Amino acid sequence: MQPLVTEANIDYTEVIRRIGDSGGNEYFYFLRCPNCSFIFLIDSEVDTAFMDASELLCQVSFCHVGDTVACLRCKQPLAAEQIWSALRGETGTELWHVSREALRASAWSWAIKENSRPESHG
Ligand SMILES: [Zn+2]
Repeated sequence: MQPLVTEANIDYTEVIRRIGDSGGNEYFYFLRCPNCSFIFLIDSEVDTAFMDASELLCQVSFCHVGDTVACLRCKQPLAAEQIWSALRGETGTELWHVSREALRASAWSWAIKENSRPESHG
């Protein structure tokens, strides 16, 4: 199993700079669409999804039960309840989680904090 992206792997400074506005309590997390593996960013503090890695002003909120977020690639609606389950790491949400390697290969590679690599170069 490949190591998953954790909070420590995310370059908060760069993400917040691109969002252009900071509420001050961001908690970012990467998830992927269980249907097509498309990766998107979540700010779980405000239940907001950032679907487009090149346009972080494009935000979708999923504050309420019954809300859905449309996958940018396959257009499937992703239910807020499922997203919350995945954020809590519940059993059965494995398909939602993103490996560091997958994130590095995605359009979100700029969001990776490079010095979080486990390998040392000494
Ligand atoms: Zn999808």
